[in-house]
Order: sequence, then structure tokens, then C-alpha cells
Amino acid sequence: MYSAIQKEIAYKLGKDIGLSKWKDWKWQLKHAIKSIEQFEYLTGIAFESEERAELLKTFGKFPLSITPYYLSLIDTRNFRYDPVFRQAFGSVHELITTKSELADPLSEDQDSPVEGITHRYPDRVLFHVSNICSMYCRHCTRKRKVGDVDYVPTRDQLRKGIDYIRATPQVRDVLLSGGDPLMLPDAKIDWLLHEIRAIPHVEIIRIGTRMPVVLPYRITDDLVKVLKKYHPLWINTHFNHPREITQSSREALAKLADGGFPLGNQSVLLADVNDCPRIMKKLVHKLVMNRVRPYYLYQCDLSEGLSHFRTPVGKGIEIMESLVGHTSGMARPTYVIDAPGGGGKIPVMPNYIISWSTNKVVLRNYEGVITTYKEPDSYESKICDRNCEECNLDLNLDEVDESDSIGIENLLSDSNDTISLIPENNERISRRGNND
Ligand SMILES: *Cc1c(COP(=O)(O)O)cnc(C)c1O
Ligand code: SF4
Repeated sequence: MYSAIQKEIAYKLGKDIGLSKWKDWKWQLKHAIKSIEQFEYLTGIAFESEERAELLKTFGKFPLSITPYYLSLIDTRNFRYDPVFRQAFGSVHELITTKSELADPLSEDQDSPVEGITHRYPDRVLFHVSNICSMYCRHCTRKRKVGDVDYVPTRDQLRKGIDYIRATPQVRDVLLSGGDPLMLPDAKIDWLLHEIRAIPHVEIIRIGTRMPVVLPYRITDDLVKVLKKYHPLWINTHFNHPREITQSSREALAKLADGGFPLGNQSVLLADVNDCPRIMKKLVHKLVMNRVRPYYLYQCDLSEGLSHFRTPVGKGIEIMESLVGHTSGMARPTYVIDAPGGGGKIPVMPNYIISWSTNKVVLRNYEGVITTYKEPDSYESKICDRNCEECNLDLNLDEVDESDSIGIENLLSDSNDTISLIPENNERISRRGNND
């Protein structure tokens, strides 16, 4: 099924074969919209010369790229207010930079031990495996890097990151990011995941991708087949507005969920896109219906050219207030501020603890009910000097061994009191059974 605007765009791009190619992700990439003229031709929107000049300057600094699919979601009659337009096409406000904005606000470069790796937290790393995206989000925190020079790292360049992970045993979680990791061809993804999976201390691999939102046709059966080989593999995507959850993206999400990948979503709180409790509630509901767990709601970073997207922190708190208690716990993301300078993500919430004494906590709920929780009288606080022998907790963290010895091994084992092994259907024994 195609909308009227999809048919029109497909025809303009590919004449009679356009529509038959629409769901081919490579065709979509080849026809990404990179100029104002193309945008105007495909949407019928026209800009005044003054604005056009400013837009040209903007795209000179931060390049434009929109997939035909994502373009087709824009409501052209009302485009100035359209959340898809605002995320995809951008505005002249991107040229405004204020003193508090930085090219690398999260100091990802400073926390980078080797090219491509950001090692900020003790047990996990961010691995930038591609510099390109199918669409350049106007609110991208890595705006100055993504699309700067379109380049896909070679296997040799990626090997540096892989070597770092292999040489760093505390890394148990590898988060593939970019750009968009799914811009790599299937064979390269296969190779990369194979290399990372072969490292014994890597417990989980995560992929952060916006493909289900901006190019859902990238989620092919072949891709899922490749990814499935490397479980446990978690996938996080990036829906910001309920309008982005279309039939096509629902199908992509279903393929991933059926492939067994736990799905998460990271939204960015954006002024005039989704800074509204009603919009966010609708978004999280649509996500969980598609088996996607809202993971983070990000406060917009202090990246260059994003000032027009930023909201006060209070807006995020207000949104969280509208979700906690009002809707399912698993539909609720964690609202985080990524600390400028590289401090990492800091969760922020409305306050639910009103007061506290040594034996009581005073709390309020989402309705405004004020209540108390009585602390236990009998709790003995543990003095932990890390001398576990004197502690009554069991610090044996190995899982319970559910394997058992079988056969003759059982007869020989001192930990098993089996005396004899008797064949099935033994007549003598079944007679005994009858007498019971
Ligand atoms: C977000 C992020 C991670 C992953 O953090 P989680 O909170 O575990 O999702 C890892 N490294 C860097 C640099 C990050 O920004
Ligand atoms: S408050 Fe929210 S729902 Fe109401 S008009 Fe504004 S954006 Fe729309």
C-alpha cells in the first residue's frame, strides 16, 4: 500500500518503475534528497529567495539528506508545523550558535582511546562504525561529524576498535553506533559482529539505528538472518513522534521483534516537535504496541546549531509527571541529561520523596496523595568491610548448575545414591508396580 504522495514522489524519481523500486532500500538511498531544488520539485513546496539563500548557507554547514520514504511522511499542506519536516529539513536557525554550544558537547573525542571508540563507562563502549546515515537528522548531536565527509571505515580501521575491545576485558557491552551501523552492507555487518562476538568477555552487543524510522525497508529478511547469528543482540531505535510509526515501520519492527531482538527506543525531547505530554504519551503507547520498550528520553544536547530545538528541563519533568503512574511502567522511558564534558547520562525525575526521618518516608503519588512508608524496626545495617566470610549473604554469584550426571557415571558418583539402572519395560519391575 502506498499513499498518494508516495506514488507521486516515486513517479517523479523513477517514472514508471519508481513505485516498484520504492521498497528497495538501496534505491531509496540512491534517491536521497540532498538539495533544496529537489525537495521543492518533489513536495511542491516553494521557498522565497531570501529564505532559500539562508537555507543554502545552512546546508553548506550541515548537509541535507532525506530518504524519499521519510520525505513522503511530511504533511505538505501544513509543513511548517510538521514534526517530520522539522526533523528532516531543518531551518535557518541552525546557523545561530550561542556561547554554551559546542561542536563535541559530550567530549566523545577526549574519551576516545582509539579511533572510533568512546570508552566512558567502566563496562561498556560506544563503537562508531559508520559516519553516514540514510537521513541527516537536524537535531543530531554528532552534527559536525555525521555527513561531514561521507566515509565508511574500512575493515582495517574497524579492526583498531575491535582490537581495543579485545584487549580491554572489562568491556562486557558493545554499543554499535555512528552514523547508522545499518548503512554498512550485510556482509560487513556479518564480519563485524562475528569479530566482536568472538571476544569472550563481550556479553551483549547493541545496535543503535534510526532505520526503522527513516528507511524501514533496510530491515530485510536477509539482514535479520545475519543479525540473528549474534544473540544476545539488542536494538535501539529512535522514534520521536507518533506520526513516524507507519505501516512500513511497523512491519520493520515486527521483523526485528520476531528475530528475537529486544527493542528499545531513544527519543530526543525537541521543541516544536514532541515537547508535549500528549504527544509523548501517544508515542510511548504506539511503541509498546509494536514491542518496543521506551528506553531513554534525552534532553537535547548543547551541540552547535541545536538551540532552536532545546527546551527547559522542566518540560521533560512535566512529561515524566504525565507518564509515571498514569500509564504502564514499561511504557515509561528514563529521562536523561547527557552531562556536557563527558560526565555521562544523568537520570532526572519529578520528586516523589517529600520528607524522611529515621523510621518513616513521606511520599506522594502521581495523583497528589501524600502517604508514608514505615521503615523496618528490625533491620540491622550491614557493616561491609568486604570480608565476606563474616557476612550472612551468599556471595557465590555463579549460576546454579542444572546439569546432572547420567548413566553409569551416576552409579560411580559419590554425590548420587542411584544403586542400579533398570531398562524400560522390565517385566519384573512392572509386576511390582501392579502390586502397589
Ligand atoms: C549512552 C552511552 C553508552 C550506553 O549507555 P547506557 O546508559 O548503558 O545505554 C555508552 N557509552 C557512551 C559514550 C554513551 O554516550
Ligand atoms: S498543547 Fe500539545 S496537544 Fe495541545 S496544541 Fe499544543 S502541541 Fe498540540
